[in-house]
Amino acid sequence: MEIALDASIPTYSGGLGVLAGDTLRAMADLRLPVVAATLVHRKGYFRQHLDGDGKQTESPDEWSPEDRLEALEPRVLVTIEGRPVTLRAWKYEVAGVTDHRIPVYLLDSDIESNDEYDRALTDSLYGGDIRYRLCQEVVLGIGGIAILRALGHADFHTYHMNEGHSSLLTLALLQEHASLHDRGSVIESDVDDVRQKCVFTTHTPVDAGHDRFSAELVESVLGKERTGILARLTHPEAGVFNLTKLAMFFCRSANGVSIRHAHVARRMFPETSISAITNGVHVGTWTSPPFARLYDRHVPDWRRDNRYLRQASAIPREEIQMAHAETKATLLAEVERRTSTKLNAGTMTIGFARRATGYKRADLLYTDEERLRRIIERVGPLQLVYGGKAHSRDTTGKAAIERIFSVARELKDILRVVYLEEYDMRLAAVMVAGVDLWLNNPLKPLEASGTSGMKAALNGVPSLSVLDGWWLEGWIEGVTGWAIGDRSEESGDPVAELDSLYGKLENAILPMFYDRPRAYADVMRSAISHNGSFFNAQRMVSQYVQNVYEPGSAPREEELVSS
Ligand SMILES: *Cc1c(COP(=O)(O)O)cnc(C)c1O
Repeated sequence: MEIALDASIPTYSGGLGVLAGDTLRAMADLRLPVVAATLVHRKGYFRQHLDGDGKQTESPDEWSPEDRLEALEPRVLVTIEGRPVTLRAWKYEVAGVTDHRIPVYLLDSDIESNDEYDRALTDSLYGGDIRYRLCQEVVLGIGGIAILRALGHADFHTYHMNEGHSSLLTLALLQEHASLHDRGSVIESDVDDVRQKCVFTTHTPVDAGHDRFSAELVESVLGKERTGILARLTHPEAGVFNLTKLAMFFCRSANGVSIRHAHVARRMFPETSISAITNGVHVGTWTSPPFARLYDRHVPDWRRDNRYLRQASAIPREEIQMAHAETKATLLAEVERRTSTKLNAGTMTIGFARRATGYKRADLLYTDEERLRRIIERVGPLQLVYGGKAHSRDTTGKAAIERIFSVARELKDILRVVYLEEYDMRLAAVMVAGVDLWLNNPLKPLEASGTSGMKAALNGVPSLSVLDGWWLEGWIEGVTGWAIGDRSEESGDPVAELDSLYGKLENAILPMFYDRPRAYADVMRSAISHNGSFFNAQRMVSQYVQNVYEPGSAPREEELVSS
């Protein structure tokens, strides 16, 4: 549903879209024969405005595909709520480190002959009501297959659905297969055929990520016949169609995005075998210029093959410290430009930025203000840089932003806190590289993977994070960063978790940062060599090729159980 193609094209909202873009960039690095489809989102996600109290308002983030993308000729028709809707597509080419290009087709319904309602269907990412969302998913899944065929792409070896948003493509494939065999109705062998072609990745255990629609709505949008096919094959529970379950029904392979997430997803969907492919980030995109120059000197060929970053262990500490001083200066200049706040280059700077939503707990650090005061007085100063948008209807997320603003005021005698507006790829790149420590404290087990900590690691910035998602795999205590709490699957006792957070800052991180800077530089270096070399999108894509895309590669049940 979203792909972050370029920092200046607002076709994404957060982690899922950035991951999709990074995946395609790594596929281009590896010269894979892939095409992608998404919606054009003419009004983007939204622009975020924060007033002096941190109250968020939103405005559309309009852009012109006409100025940035290549127009494609074909027009296709899909039926939505009984109306014929004409679609076209725009093309963007994703480039990697080689001359290989991956075409992305962005579907667009803004065509004069369409109804006013239909013309707006490809405008807003995650906007509108549930009816709008289902109509968008018809455009993406059914319109997507139609546009691919019209562009001359015959059948593919594999269709990779990411989240249930795209899963109506299975219906299009099913009907295509039936009509290919001159049958008016779908039979069991059509189902097997579609299943052999489709793979699915679930990206979050959070409920809002799993689309569910009532039978009435599905019938009014898809019509009686198509709804009948879906109902007959997938047996919706209590009249509710769950598009994640639809994707799982029709795929030959399903996976989660970290080892822990796959465990959690197996509990949510016990009827499906779910393997794990842990996410990664695109190294060429997320390495800051000072670190790119450093790697150019010490790690030849790191862009083409990210695994060579393992050799970062031989980079002299001083050079890592010097590169980091540059990225930190860039961040502090950006903070001053945006907020007129001067941060101190010698002070431990903690970064926290991601979608602002309840389970991410942006304000957890301020639960015990007195304790925080004592820590700072005892072991040294702190400053914090925040960023992140709350979805327009997410009142908890919005309240978390306001809380950061009010804390900044209450603690201003001992602590500098800034919250930067409009967190996007560009700001993320400056933040993850410029801070000294990347903080992540979501409520377990809701962080499927998390990727911003991987971006930080590529720039020598260690994480302090709860043991959820990717950090369970990337964490070596005191070597690549630090853990908050233990390995248990649920967050459990909030007091113990909080105690761990404060304890790590007070007894491990701040004393090392201020008193043993060489030891801190060792941690920075290990973050690169251990985690940059593994939690990258080239490794992730290689795992998709080896474990999911290649014929006969679907893991057997026994393998899944033992993993
Ligand atoms: C990387 C990124 C995210 C995802 O961060 P998480 O740590 O996975 O929550 C969200 N938004 C932007 C703009 C990003 O670059």
